[in-house]
Amino acid sequence: MRAISPCVTCMKEASDKLTTTGESTPVRFPYAEMDDNGIVYLTCDKGHSTAAVHRSRKHQFLFESGCHALLDHYTNEAVSTFSAALERAYEFFLRVAYRKLRLPPSLLDDSWKHVKAQSERQFGAFVFLFPAIAGESFELPQSIPQLRNKVIHRGYMARFDEVEKYAEVIFAIIRRIMHVLSDRCPTEMWAEINDAAEVQRSAVPAGMEWTWVAGTEFDLTVDLTFESWMDELRTQHEGQPE
Ligand SMILES: [Zn+2]
Repeated sequence: MRAISPCVTCMKEASDKLTTTGESTPVRFPYAEMDDNGIVYLTCDKGHSTAAVHRSRKHQFLFESGCHALLDHYTNEAVSTFSAALERAYEFFLRVAYRKLRLPPSLLDDSWKHVKAQSERQFGAFVFLFPAIAGESFELPQSIPQLRNKVIHRGYMARFDEVEKYAEVIFAIIRRIMHVLSDRCPTEMWAEINDAAEVQRSAVPAGMEWTWVAGTEFDLTVDLTFESWMDELRTQHEGQPE
């Protein structure tokens, strides 16, 4: 997928110019391809190189990627990517829950190898552990597996409006999962995010300019709706070269 990222050098130059002359310089945030570590290696129009490390987890990257696919009207691709985002949100929940239960991450990795290729089994693990943290059961609306299975197993061509609804429901589910974690185990949630971010950052080659980029779609401090998030993304999406 591609993600919007800043050039560190251009940002610094613009900031220095503002400080010394009071003049503001618009800085373009181009789209560039993201790798599996969530890092965008970017060369800006002026030839500066930056590694932009997106401080988000897989469910966030994938959800955003699904939104871009949807905005481009690749509805079936969007369905499979939104489904992958939800599955990774289950995994994120399990990782944080293990920390809360004082179980080392290596124990989760040992168990995960039995289910890593089977999303239904991963959902099974999630659905049984969710009440241990949330104090209530987890309900998955039937519309989610129904559309996913129609698209993935039967080649159904999904309409834009039904995928938009599908994404909105998944957006709400992921935000709910994140709310449960931030309410019930904030320390463990941030430890999981920070440890993963450190692994990401260590993948940047030594000596290269780099910066953090924060994802906002599941920022629980902001009262965001799916509609307002999509409006923000649509603005970024338009005006970008193909
Ligand atoms: Zn630059």
